[in-house]
Amino acid sequence: MIIDAHAHLGVDLVFEEVRSEAEIMAVMDANNINVTILQGMYGHIYLDEIEDNHNRIARLARENPKRIFGMITMTPYLHDGDFYDEAKRCVKELGFVGMKLHPMAFGCSPENSRTEMMWKICEELGIPMMVHTGTGAPLSAPSQVVRRCKQFPYVPCVLAHSGMLIYADEAFLAAHECPNVYLETSWTAPHHIVHAIKTFGSKRILFAADEITNVATEIGKYNSLPISGEDREQCFWQTANTVFGLGF
Ligand SMILES: [Zn+2]
Repeated sequence: MIIDAHAHLGVDLVFEEVRSEAEIMAVMDANNINVTILQGMYGHIYLDEIEDNHNRIARLARENPKRIFGMITMTPYLHDGDFYDEAKRCVKELGFVGMKLHPMAFGCSPENSRTEMMWKICEELGIPMMVHTGTGAPLSAPSQVVRRCKQFPYVPCVLAHSGMLIYADEAFLAAHECPNVYLETSWTAPHHIVHAIKTFGSKRILFAADEITNVATEIGKYNSLPISGEDREQCFWQTANTVFGLGF
């Protein structure tokens, strides 16, 4: 079984990419991905657009039960009440399983005071936070999550891309400092994945591809690593299943 914990649907205004429902499902079928956790795209600042993006993910999840799950994706610069109401709607009504913070795309590092309410909402709703790390430093530097992870020790924090090669050592430092940090390995160098599994154990490492054109590459990476079959299974789906509470 494989769970891709990080994929995007919709129109991206920041990175100027477009990904459709058909493309997502086709890539899953072609690569034997059983489950994908879908998040929105970036640059949407109007609440109605953000709601539409979330509804679109929810529709695909309804059409593909237990195959597609949703992740909240919205700028923290919305009014507090709007952010809270939409986050609650996503979890309680749409069944979403996590929240995304992209420090570069949102222009907001985890150290920014605006993100405190994001973590508070994750804590209240019982969902993990995924934070993009790597490109976009210093906002996206892995060290930026450390104080929030200590402030909210019961909110699992998934570091997308594990610092993306150049900041891998900093991602490892964050994982050492905070037991609630999990390392997601899209765009992560193979030897860093091996290092992370040896250092932290595979229960804190999870597979993801981030991009539909990157799915086969990420699977190939894991299949070529000198790790045990059990560790591979753990990273391919068990860690994401536990962290996001998917119930498999
Ligand atoms: Zn992404």
